[in-house]
Amino acid sequence: MSKGKLFIISGASGVGKSTVLSKVMAARKDLEFSVSATTRPPRPGEKDGVNYYFVTEEKFRSMIAADEFLEYDEHNKTLYGTPRAQVEEKLLRGHVILDIEPVGAFNVQRQRPDATLIFIVPPSMEVLENRLRSRGDTGEEQILLRLDRAKWEMEQTPKYDFVVTNDQVDACAEKILHIIAQKDDEE
Ligand code: 5GP
Repeated sequence: MSKGKLFIISGASGVGKSTVLSKVMAARKDLEFSVSATTRPPRPGEKDGVNYYFVTEEKFRSMIAADEFLEYDEHNKTLYGTPRAQVEEKLLRGHVILDIEPVGAFNVQRQRPDATLIFIVPPSMEVLENRLRSRGDTGEEQILLRLDRAKWEMEQTPKYDFVVTNDQVDACAEKILHIIAQKDDEE
Protein backbone atom coordinates (compact mmCIF):
# COMPACT_ATOMS: atom_id res chain seq x y z
CA MET A 1 0.00 0.00 0.00
CA SER A 2 1.44 3.39 -0.91
CA LYS A 3 1.71 5.97 1.84
CA GLY A 4 1.83 9.12 -0.26
CA LYS A 5 -0.23 10.84 -2.93
CA LEU A 6 0.72 11.64 -6.46
CA PHE A 7 0.76 15.28 -7.61
CA ILE A 8 1.26 16.06 -11.27
CA ILE A 9 2.44 19.55 -12.17
CA SER A 10 2.26 20.68 -15.78
CA GLY A 11 2.94 24.01 -17.41
CA ALA A 12 4.54 25.22 -20.59
CA SER A 13 8.28 25.25 -20.90
CA GLY A 14 9.45 28.68 -19.67
CA VAL A 15 6.57 29.17 -17.23
CA GLY A 16 8.98 28.98 -14.28
CA LYS A 17 7.89 25.55 -13.08
CA SER A 18 11.27 24.43 -11.78
CA THR A 19 11.72 27.60 -9.68
CA VAL A 20 8.23 27.25 -8.24
CA LEU A 21 8.75 23.54 -7.62
CA SER A 22 12.04 24.08 -5.80
CA LYS A 23 10.23 26.50 -3.44
CA VAL A 24 7.47 23.94 -2.90
CA MET A 25 9.98 21.15 -2.23
CA ALA A 26 11.98 23.36 0.16
CA ALA A 27 8.85 24.15 2.16
CA ARG A 28 7.78 20.52 2.49
CA LYS A 29 10.54 18.04 3.08
CA ASP A 30 8.11 15.14 2.85
CA LEU A 31 7.66 15.67 -0.91
CA GLU A 32 9.80 13.75 -3.35
CA PHE A 33 10.43 14.74 -6.94
CA SER A 34 10.13 12.08 -9.61
CA VAL A 35 13.24 12.31 -11.78
CA SER A 36 12.34 11.68 -15.43
CA ALA A 37 14.55 10.24 -18.14
CA THR A 38 15.12 12.38 -21.22
CA THR A 39 17.09 12.28 -24.45
CA ARG A 40 17.69 16.04 -24.47
CA PRO A 41 21.10 17.38 -23.40
CA PRO A 42 21.40 19.01 -19.96
CA ARG A 43 20.99 22.80 -19.72
CA PRO A 44 23.63 24.74 -17.81
CA GLY A 45 23.34 23.89 -14.11
CA GLU A 46 21.24 20.76 -14.64
CA LYS A 47 22.57 17.61 -12.98
CA ASP A 48 22.18 14.00 -14.06
CA GLY A 49 20.02 12.10 -11.56
CA VAL A 50 18.75 15.34 -9.99
CA ASN A 51 16.89 17.25 -12.73
CA TYR A 52 16.71 14.34 -15.17
CA TYR A 53 18.42 11.12 -16.07
CA PHE A 54 20.07 12.21 -19.30
CA VAL A 55 20.14 9.12 -21.52
CA THR A 56 20.78 8.27 -25.16
CA GLU A 57 17.86 7.51 -27.46
CA GLU A 58 19.09 3.90 -27.62
CA LYS A 59 18.96 3.58 -23.84
CA PHE A 60 15.52 5.25 -23.73
CA ARG A 61 14.18 2.83 -26.37
CA SER A 62 15.53 -0.13 -24.38
CA MET A 63 13.73 1.19 -21.28
CA ILE A 64 10.48 1.39 -23.30
CA ALA A 65 11.00 -2.20 -24.49
CA ALA A 66 11.55 -3.35 -20.90
CA ASP A 67 8.30 -1.60 -19.84
CA GLU A 68 10.18 0.56 -17.36
CA PHE A 69 8.05 3.68 -17.85
CA LEU A 70 4.82 4.59 -16.07
CA GLU A 71 4.36 6.90 -19.07
CA TYR A 72 6.52 8.43 -21.75
CA ASP A 73 6.01 10.91 -24.54
CA GLU A 74 7.89 12.47 -27.41
CA HIS A 75 7.61 16.23 -27.79
CA ASN A 76 9.89 19.08 -28.91
CA LYS A 77 11.77 16.31 -30.81
CA THR A 78 12.79 14.79 -27.46
CA LEU A 79 11.76 11.71 -25.50
CA TYR A 80 10.69 12.14 -21.85
CA GLY A 81 9.54 9.36 -19.51
CA THR A 82 8.66 8.65 -15.88
CA PRO A 83 10.45 5.58 -14.47
CA ARG A 84 7.73 3.45 -12.89
CA ALA A 85 9.79 1.71 -10.17
CA GLN A 86 11.12 5.02 -8.85
CA VAL A 87 7.61 6.49 -8.44
CA GLU A 88 6.31 3.38 -6.69
CA GLU A 89 9.28 3.32 -4.32
CA LYS A 90 8.96 7.02 -3.46
CA LEU A 91 5.21 6.68 -2.87
CA LEU A 92 5.97 4.18 -0.11
CA ARG A 93 7.73 7.03 1.74
CA GLY A 94 5.43 9.97 1.05
CA HIS A 95 3.99 12.31 -1.56
CA VAL A 96 5.53 12.37 -5.02
CA ILE A 97 5.60 15.28 -7.49
CA LEU A 98 5.77 14.64 -11.21
CA ASP A 99 6.69 17.51 -13.53
CA ILE A 100 5.26 16.23 -16.79
CA GLU A 101 3.29 17.61 -19.74
CA PRO A 102 -0.42 16.95 -20.42
CA VAL A 103 -0.14 13.75 -22.53
CA GLY A 104 1.88 12.11 -19.76
CA ALA A 105 -0.37 13.61 -17.08
CA PHE A 106 -3.54 12.09 -18.59
CA ASN A 107 -1.74 8.81 -19.13
CA VAL A 108 -0.78 8.64 -15.44
CA GLN A 109 -4.29 9.75 -14.43
CA ARG A 110 -5.78 6.77 -16.27
CA GLN A 111 -3.57 4.42 -14.25
CA ARG A 112 -3.81 6.38 -10.98
CA PRO A 113 -7.18 8.19 -10.89
CA ASP A 114 -6.37 9.48 -7.39
CA ALA A 115 -3.55 11.68 -8.75
CA THR A 116 -4.03 15.45 -8.39
CA LEU A 117 -3.40 17.41 -11.59
CA ILE A 118 -2.15 20.99 -11.24
CA PHE A 119 -1.44 23.28 -14.21
CA ILE A 120 0.77 26.38 -13.92
CA VAL A 121 -0.09 29.11 -16.44
CA PRO A 122 1.95 32.22 -17.27
CA PRO A 123 0.35 35.65 -16.73
CA SER A 124 0.22 35.92 -20.56
CA MET A 125 1.65 34.32 -23.68
CA GLU A 126 3.87 37.41 -24.15
CA VAL A 127 5.44 36.85 -20.75
CA LEU A 128 6.06 33.20 -21.65
CA GLU A 129 7.69 34.12 -24.96
CA ASN A 130 9.93 36.69 -23.25
CA ARG A 131 10.99 34.16 -20.62
CA LEU A 132 11.82 31.56 -23.27
CA ARG A 133 13.89 34.07 -25.24
CA SER A 134 15.71 35.48 -22.21
CA ARG A 135 16.87 31.98 -21.22
CA GLY A 136 19.38 32.28 -24.05
CA ASP A 137 20.02 28.54 -24.11
CA THR A 138 17.31 27.65 -26.60
CA GLY A 139 17.60 28.13 -30.37
CA GLU A 140 14.92 29.89 -32.45
CA GLU A 141 13.58 26.61 -33.88
CA GLN A 142 13.13 25.20 -30.36
CA ILE A 143 11.53 28.47 -29.15
CA LEU A 144 8.91 28.32 -31.92
CA LEU A 145 8.27 24.62 -31.26
CA ARG A 146 7.87 25.33 -27.55
CA LEU A 147 5.49 28.25 -28.14
CA ASP A 148 3.32 26.11 -30.43
CA ARG A 149 3.33 23.36 -27.86
CA ALA A 150 2.48 25.88 -25.09
CA LYS A 151 -0.66 26.99 -26.98
CA TRP A 152 -1.84 23.39 -27.24
CA GLU A 153 -1.01 22.73 -23.57
CA MET A 154 -3.01 25.77 -22.44
CA GLU A 155 -6.07 24.28 -24.19
CA GLN A 156 -5.80 21.24 -21.91
CA THR A 157 -6.26 23.23 -18.67
CA PRO A 158 -10.01 22.44 -18.30
CA LYS A 159 -9.04 18.79 -17.73
CA TYR A 160 -6.84 19.71 -14.73
CA ASP A 161 -8.03 19.72 -11.10
CA PHE A 162 -6.34 23.07 -10.37
CA VAL A 163 -4.95 25.92 -12.49
CA VAL A 164 -2.55 28.38 -10.83
CA THR A 165 -0.98 31.48 -12.37
CA ASN A 166 2.73 32.12 -11.95
CA ASP A 167 2.71 35.91 -11.78
CA GLN A 168 4.87 35.80 -8.67
CA VAL A 169 6.97 32.76 -7.71
CA ASP A 170 6.35 32.77 -3.94
CA ALA A 171 2.61 33.28 -4.35
CA CYS A 172 2.42 30.50 -6.93
CA ALA A 173 4.37 28.11 -4.65
CA GLU A 174 2.03 29.03 -1.77
CA LYS A 175 -1.02 28.14 -3.87
CA ILE A 176 0.45 24.74 -4.69
CA LEU A 177 1.36 24.12 -1.04
CA HIS A 178 -2.21 24.98 -0.13
CA ILE A 179 -3.55 22.40 -2.61
CA ILE A 180 -1.22 19.74 -1.18
CA ALA A 181 -2.30 20.59 2.39
CA GLN A 182 -5.93 20.35 1.28
CA LYS A 183 -5.27 16.82 -0.02
CA ASP A 184 -3.57 15.90 3.28
CA ASP A 185 -6.77 16.85 5.10
CA GLU A 186 -8.82 14.53 2.86
CA GLU A 187 -7.26 11.48 4.53
P1 5GP B 1 12.14 20.67 -20.38
O1 5GP B 1 12.86 20.13 -21.57
O2 5GP B 1 11.86 22.16 -20.50
O3 5GP B 1 12.78 20.29 -19.08
O4 5GP B 1 10.70 19.98 -20.34
C1 5GP B 1 9.85 20.04 -21.42
C2 5GP B 1 8.51 19.43 -21.07
O5 5GP B 1 8.66 18.02 -20.82
C3 5GP B 1 7.88 20.02 -19.82
O6 5GP B 1 6.53 20.33 -20.13
C4 5GP B 1 7.97 18.90 -18.82
O7 5GP B 1 6.89 18.94 -17.91
C5 5GP B 1 7.86 17.68 -19.71
N1 5GP B 1 8.39 16.46 -19.09
C6 5GP B 1 9.45 16.34 -18.27
N2 5GP B 1 9.59 15.06 -17.87
C7 5GP B 1 8.59 14.37 -18.43
C8 5GP B 1 8.18 12.98 -18.38
O8 5GP B 1 8.77 12.13 -17.73
N3 5GP B 1 7.08 12.64 -19.10
C9 5GP B 1 6.39 13.54 -19.85
N4 5GP B 1 5.31 13.10 -20.49
N5 5GP B 1 6.74 14.84 -19.91
C10 5GP B 1 7.82 15.25 -19.22
